[in-house]
Amino acid sequence: MPELSDRLSELAARVAELEAERELTLRLAQTDSLTGLVNRGAFTSGLCERLEAARRDGASVALFVIDLNRFKSLNDSLGHHAGDMLLAELGRRLRDGARPGELVARLGGDEFAVVSDVADVEGRAQELVSALAQPHTIYGRVVMPGGSVGVAEFPRDAQDASDLQRFADMALYRAKAIVGRGWHRFDAELRAESEHRRTLGDELRRAIPAGEMEPWFQPIVEAMTGRMVGVEVLARWRHPTQGLLAPLAFVPMAEELGLIRQIDEAIFDAACARAAPWVADGLIDTVSCNVSPRDLLDPGFSRKLIQRLAATDLPATALAVEITETFLLSDMGLARRHIERLAARGVQVALDDFGTGYSNLRALMHLPIQTVKLDRSLIYDVGRDARVSKLVASMLHAARSLGVRITAEGVEDEGQALFLRSAGCDRMQGYFFARPMPGDAMEAMLREDTRPEPERLAANG
Ligand code: C2E
Ligand code: CA
Ligand code: CA
Repeated sequence: MPELSDRLSELAARVAELEAERELTLRLAQTDSLTGLVNRGAFTSGLCERLEAARRDGASVALFVIDLNRFKSLNDSLGHHAGDMLLAELGRRLRDGARPGELVARLGGDEFAVVSDVADVEGRAQELVSALAQPHTIYGRVVMPGGSVGVAEFPRDAQDASDLQRFADMALYRAKAIVGRGWHRFDAELRAESEHRRTLGDELRRAIPAGEMEPWFQPIVEAMTGRMVGVEVLARWRHPTQGLLAPLAFVPMAEELGLIRQIDEAIFDAACARAAPWVADGLIDTVSCNVSPRDLLDPGFSRKLIQRLAATDLPATALAVEITETFLLSDMGLARRHIERLAARGVQVALDDFGTGYSNLRALMHLPIQTVKLDRSLIYDVGRDARVSKLVASMLHAARSLGVRITAEGVEDEGQALFLRSAGCDRMQGYFFARPMPGDAMEAMLREDTRPEPERLAANG
């Protein structure tokens, strides 16, 4: 029956077609469309397979993670399309330079990875750095790309895929921090750091519910009068064996572990409870709380903060939330929603650490931000270095014309204070006035400061 055989071969052709389609879909699902490299999903399963094989064969596997230098600023200055072209070019370089059997992947953004069985790990790292550093021409402009590389090895450094990735990331972070050759290999020092982090993480999880996080307070004074008008809340960890720890010792770790939110909430509640009477008694007008950029990435952040605030005795208008400029730049849309939602309730928003990043005063015009905090790295040289003084004076001038209030941070001596006051700075904060202190000491200082003049004189003499 010719008809049946026709039907059969037709069917066979259709099956082959479907299979080819399925294969294409599968490949597309595993491929990064911009660079043609393997994508993150396929990379993770490929890495696990290779580790399994290496475990069986007693072989080793090196993981190189790569992050481009200054990609964000290139992308911003040249435009998205040029940024994509650059990523495609660097992806091509990595693919063309791959050794036989290597897995080359784009993990997302400007992050790449190479899984390799090379014996000369350091030589290969250097080779990757050199390949990425070659200049490239886009739209007739020569750009100098460049990337940093972190390496970790199985089984030398790590026994499984998740540790291997974590350690390679730590090495990458180190490679970026030390200027020079551009790559770093996971080593004993990083291992010690990773162990320290692990214990610190366990301790943090215990410390938060145990109430070991304390709000400390630092006065903010009015520049013209020297009167205390506000306090900034600064977190301290009363560690059972290590004593009092400053944020640098635990905030970055808490951010990494996703615990910063809990810390910020605990500090916020305790600080509001402590400081609400100071506001009610007219001793200060503002309580400023720091929030982590991590917190702000949560679209529900501002709504939850407003709810939390309502449960305290602090009026919304007496709260200022300090956010960093890096966050503004990372997600302008989300930043705007948070800031507008807070502003609608009367909560003030201050831009922290201004002068360390892009210092985009123009961005402020379009957002209801009332205060900018000039970073202490700028204040340090004020009155000492003529150029810094000039820069700060012009920032103060620009802020005033925009109707934004400026608080100078890290004021340590009288010279800085006098300069800032004469240049029109509104508020100041720093060791020259007072260091951060526990709630009891802050309370005593505030009540002392507002006693009527004769009484204070009597007390002193
Ligand atoms: P920041 O918001 O810029 O806070 C100001 C820092 O400068 C504080 O350090 C303060 O003690 C210090 N400081 C104040 N005056 C002077 C001065 O005259 N000279 C010098 N050299 N330093 C001065 P601290 O308390 O160690 O806090 C460091 C950072 O940790 C803060 O920087 C803030 O970004 C973060 N942080 C503090 N508390 C919290 C918190 O509750 N949550 C979050 N997410 N971050 C916090
Ligand atoms: Ca701050
Ligand atoms: Ca600051």
